[in-house]
Amino acid sequence: MKSNYDFLVIGGGIAGLGVASHLAKHGKACVLEQESSLGYHSSGRSAAIFIRNYGNKVLKQLTASSETFFNNPEGIADHSLLSPRGEMLVATENELEDLEAYLSDATDMESLTTKEACDLVPILRPEKIAAAAIETEAQDIDSDLLLQGYIRLIKSHGGHIKPKQHVQKISYENGVWTLTTPDESYEAPILINAAGAWADHIATLANIPQIGLMPKRRSMAVIPAPSGYDSSDWPLFASASEDWYAKPQGEKLYISPADEDIVEPHDAWADDMVLAEGLYRYEEMVTAPVTQVEHSWAGLRNFVKDKTPVVGFDNHASGFFWLAGQGGYGIQTAPALSEIACDLITGKIDSRPNDLLEALTPNRLR
Ligand SMILES: Cc1cc2nc3c(=O)[nH]c(=O)nc-3n(C[C@H](O)[C@H](O)[C@H](O)COP(=O)(O)OP(=O)(O)OC[C@H]3O[C@@H](n4cnc5c(N)ncnc54)[C@H](O)[C@@H]3O)c2cc1C
Repeated sequence: MKSNYDFLVIGGGIAGLGVASHLAKHGKACVLEQESSLGYHSSGRSAAIFIRNYGNKVLKQLTASSETFFNNPEGIADHSLLSPRGEMLVATENELEDLEAYLSDATDMESLTTKEACDLVPILRPEKIAAAAIETEAQDIDSDLLLQGYIRLIKSHGGHIKPKQHVQKISYENGVWTLTTPDESYEAPILINAAGAWADHIATLANIPQIGLMPKRRSMAVIPAPSGYDSSDWPLFASASEDWYAKPQGEKLYISPADEDIVEPHDAWADDMVLAEGLYRYEEMVTAPVTQVEHSWAGLRNFVKDKTPVVGFDNHASGFFWLAGQGGYGIQTAPALSEIACDLITGKIDSRPNDLLEALTPNRLR
């Protein structure tokens, strides 16, 4: 059986669902997801934090542009998807240069004394901290609500979402892309590649050169919040060299070793040794020992070499659109990237500076 659409999106993560929530207003849109649930891979495994100063210049611009939508998510919620958290970087003597480099490019960050840092997070060891700084405006993102909201928007505009549809074959003839899954074939003049870690694999199926995507594993351990403390209003606290971070989450602390091992695309899980080493680095900085890991997971953060997302039509084939390479920033930049992608796909040339589109185009990587 063949189904015809205007836009076919491969990938039911935050990227695919975000762009489809806009495209569904402009034509017949369909999202194809290989898993039985949406957001199963990276999008369901993030730390869900919004940090203005995280990433390169382009990412900072995309994050800033996303804030209006997060605060007024029309059609998704009548309240902001962001809530106060803060992000504090702590530097040992050896990490002073890392902190300095981060601050030299940052806005709205405040330097803290060791005492101020330990007042905010009382389990930190003062003797280890040579310097600290905080972005007080960093916020938690309700990423589940965002994902569910995108799904609702797609359906309310008449779009389709098809889980359990693993795209295994892609062909192009007479201006039409045909995507084949074990159950069905789908046709459309425009294909959006939002396949996360598998985006280069999709390019190969479509006979298009890859962009050099590197899936990097990042793990997370869940431990009970240190007893005797109310950690609910602690900021996320992290090493200035990004070799561990800790995020309070209800009665728990999420600890990440901030690992970046390059792996093949797969259903990622946390490596015990990587977790143990990361927990050790965290434990060195705090007075509360880790006595129990209740749960752990890992997901893939997908980067190209300049660490900037890849958004735009590919010069190698008509109607093949990339929405990939969001790295560790795909949730906080999802509103801006979804809108830019939709504007490019529907041909709405807007007032965004061209240098942003130049920075995002897949053709820069060739
Ligand atoms: C531990 C961790 C912490 C993070 N923390 C943050 C954070 O605090 N803030 C932030 O902004 N970002 C964070 N990120 C990054 C963020 O999660 C990602 O950038 C984002 O989720 C990428 O979304 P995506 O839709 O591109 O990928 P995915 O969610 O992986 O979606 C891609 C989808 O494509 C599907 N697919 C692939 N191939 C096929 C095929 N052939 N047929 C059909 N479907 C296919 C996959 O099944 C998958 O569901 C974090 C990531 C990790 C792992």
